[in-house]
Amino acid sequence: MATSAHKVTLIPGDGIGPECIEATRRIIEATGAPIEWDIHHAGASIFKQGLPSGVPQDTIESIQKTRVVLKGPLETPIGFGEKSANVTLRKLFETYGNIRPVRELPGVKTPYSGRNIDLVVVRENVEDLYAGIEYMQTPGVAECLKLISAKGCEKIVRLAFEVARAEGRKTVHCASKSNIMKLTEGLLKKTFEAIAPEYPDIESHHIIIDNCAHQLVKKPEQFDVIVTTNMNGDIISDLSSALIGGLGFAPSANIGNEVAIFEAVHGSAPKYAGKNVINPLAVLLSGVLMLRHLKLFEQASSIENSVFVTLEEGKVLTRDIVGDEKAASTTRFTDEIIANLGHSSKNWHVRNYKEVKLPVLKPDIDYVKATSRKVTGVDLFVESGLSADKLGPILEKKVSGSKLKLKMISNRGTKVYPSAGAITDCVDHWFCRFIAVDPKEEVSDEIIADLVQKVGKDYRWVHLEKLQEIDGKPGYTKAQGED
Ligand code: NAP
Repeated sequence: MATSAHKVTLIPGDGIGPECIEATRRIIEATGAPIEWDIHHAGASIFKQGLPSGVPQDTIESIQKTRVVLKGPLETPIGFGEKSANVTLRKLFETYGNIRPVRELPGVKTPYSGRNIDLVVVRENVEDLYAGIEYMQTPGVAECLKLISAKGCEKIVRLAFEVARAEGRKTVHCASKSNIMKLTEGLLKKTFEAIAPEYPDIESHHIIIDNCAHQLVKKPEQFDVIVTTNMNGDIISDLSSALIGGLGFAPSANIGNEVAIFEAVHGSAPKYAGKNVINPLAVLLSGVLMLRHLKLFEQASSIENSVFVTLEEGKVLTRDIVGDEKAASTTRFTDEIIANLGHSSKNWHVRNYKEVKLPVLKPDIDYVKATSRKVTGVDLFVESGLSADKLGPILEKKVSGSKLKLKMISNRGTKVYPSAGAITDCVDHWFCRFIAVDPKEEVSDEIIADLVQKVGKDYRWVHLEKLQEIDGKPGYTKAQGED
């Protein structure tokens, strides 16, 4: 009985996208993989039609049905729409895990050739600073919220360990900046340390993200799987791609429990659009990731083997690998990969891949439930052109006799009042920490409203945060220099 075809939404994309996608489609079809393409569009052409998201309804509906997308790069044209259509797609379908394999390829000469780089970066894909929640606090001070959830951390950490298992890898490194951002980045580290014992077959290590970048340049072959938050992952995955030859070779998978989107890391490289010169490998290798996601392991390995053979033989290569003089066109390179299907290299072997078991977590919105909560104070962010030593006594006077007292004022995270002698180049955005006069007493909303009214009479307050104790532990950090 013939197996029914897998339906895949195919988005050709912008610039060099259609050429990369056409090459990939031809090669996948040549393996006989049972795939039915549902072609839809997103990106520049859609922005130009006036749709600010860049992703039309028919494309969304196709993805809702197929649940699998292979896409070319999408431009974010300046002057049309505010948000990137790529990010919109990732967020619309909660593709929380960005998987970026980085493996040395035959014949692609880099300063690292022969070092056997073979790692995977597993990047959280929907949270962190990339949620893009930003506010101007004062005319000269901007804020971006870094939101990290325990649920998001657990999903990405489990995904990283599952990827390691499916690919027969030995080690997972969690890379974070938890030494500085103890609550946000620290949540990833804490989650990683809690979950790692469930995978006793895999070694686990924590590494500070800046050292991780340093180690990736110094000794990249020490890494197997790296799991990290969104922005850190964005940076170290591009860094890692450069180690094996650059963006032309970097595939990626955006994985969610409902939908998976496969795309190259590179963009639409508009200067090469329509010239039949680009390297389609990054999109093709993304297609290989897609085939494995669809459990078409044989076809995936067949393409990967053919890529190894084609690169190793070095007879037909694109300009980014061999330069303009010896370059073959994209179409000729694609033909060569098709001709080499069924061949394998003696020196370059395809890993033995198994299905990645996607983590399934409790669906609860309130994922972490606390047994005790108490509001012990409030941080009020105030705009003022006064200096700290003038503003401090004014605020102290405003709350005198009330249930709150001013504990300190910080400027961009450094305590400046009462002064501890810090040399701070202050701006007009003051984070003023008020705590209960009686530490046994809960700070109610009425007390906070009274504070806001008193301060707001003379100063523009721009933001407030409750100081909460959750399960007896402070749910906030101290300012630099605060006791
Ligand atoms: P880019 O399109 O990735 O191109 C940067 C450079 O990378 C190219 O000039 C070229 O280098 C090289 N390159 C990229 N893909 C290649 C390929 N397949 N074969 C050979 N060389 C390749 O980056 P960009 O110019 O910054 O971005 C252009 C547009 O793409 C922007 O609108 C951006 O928003 C969008 N973008 C989309 C995605 C996505 O869809 N996921 C990702 C990134 C950017 P040389 O000049 O050295 O030859």
